[in-house]
Amino acid sequence: MKAAVLTGIRQMQIMDVPEPKIEKDTDVLLKIEVVGVCGSDVHYYETGRIGSQVVQYPFIVGHECSAMVKAVGDSVTRVKVGDEVVVEPAVSCYNCDQCKQGRENTCFKLRFLGTPGQGDGCLCEYIVMPQESCFPTNGAMHSMANAITLEQAALCEPFAIGVYSVRQSQIFRNAKIAILGSGPIGLSCMAAAQAEDVEAIYMTDKLDYRVQIAEKAGVTWAGNPDREDIVKEILQREPLGMDIVFECAGQQETLDEAVELLKPGGRLMLIGIPRVEQVWFSIDKLRRKELTLINVRRQNKCTQTTIDLIASGKADIDFMITHRFKLEQTKDAFDMVAGYRDDVVKALIELE
Ligand SMILES: [Zn+2]
Ligand SMILES: [Zn+2]
Repeated sequence: MKAAVLTGIRQMQIMDVPEPKIEKDTDVLLKIEVVGVCGSDVHYYETGRIGSQVVQYPFIVGHECSAMVKAVGDSVTRVKVGDEVVVEPAVSCYNCDQCKQGRENTCFKLRFLGTPGQGDGCLCEYIVMPQESCFPTNGAMHSMANAITLEQAALCEPFAIGVYSVRQSQIFRNAKIAILGSGPIGLSCMAAAQAEDVEAIYMTDKLDYRVQIAEKAGVTWAGNPDREDIVKEILQREPLGMDIVFECAGQQETLDEAVELLKPGGRLMLIGIPRVEQVWFSIDKLRRKELTLINVRRQNKCTQTTIDLIASGKADIDFMITHRFKLEQTKDAFDMVAGYRDDVVKALIELE
């Protein structure tokens, strides 16, 4: 089969690699349809590592995908041949302390698609996943066949992180929130929060085109911290401060802004991944405001909710798709996302 293979720093080749095979009777062989290019894929491409996870070449990245079921193991019941599915890239053991507590996202034996040391990714024609990772888009919840498109299905993985972050934040109707960072994850938090009928959403980003995308998506106000004092602008409009801030940039600057923006008793959702080992907080401000910090590790049990939100029309995420490429053009897609070129938000790789 064809695969887009990382062969070195900023090097990628389309190669012929062996097709994976069903090994366990709970395995599903999937034909990949659409793959979303994620910032983490691009980070592996540019630097060969994320923290302690180092790429051993050759390696296939990619973890946001939709697929069609091509074959199933003998005891598979969740899906059948021909089903279109959202692929949940995390495979947990369901048996360790964390899994038994319902925390599959922090499973001690977690394997994640397209992660060095854990397994190759989905930028190829076929993958094998356990049936638990396959969420049919025509599941029991939906009356119509294929209630969401293959492109929407590929967006479910990043959107699920937004849905999970909003769930973990204990959001409430009429809450006033800020989302700092308007990339795919910030916009996913936005779409998930909009589905919860919050009263006000303030968004920021250092890229003007992303500020405009947030405005177009109907947020209360959006601004660029390089052009204006976003803390002043937001607090002028909301003197009491924010109930919840979603930090989706992973920068010291946005963490500082979040602490300023929150009202006493507010919740700070830590979603962005800092590139540094340590970040800094004013303990005086955290304590006086009695702020709650909540860390987000990918997502847990939100894939089906994500599909349902899109299928029901409660959440619209199509606006995030800005570019489409073929598998052969994957390197072009990665170079574009790496350079934030051409007003990119989400680039999709569409397989034939
Ligand atoms: Zn991702
Ligand atoms: Zn486990």
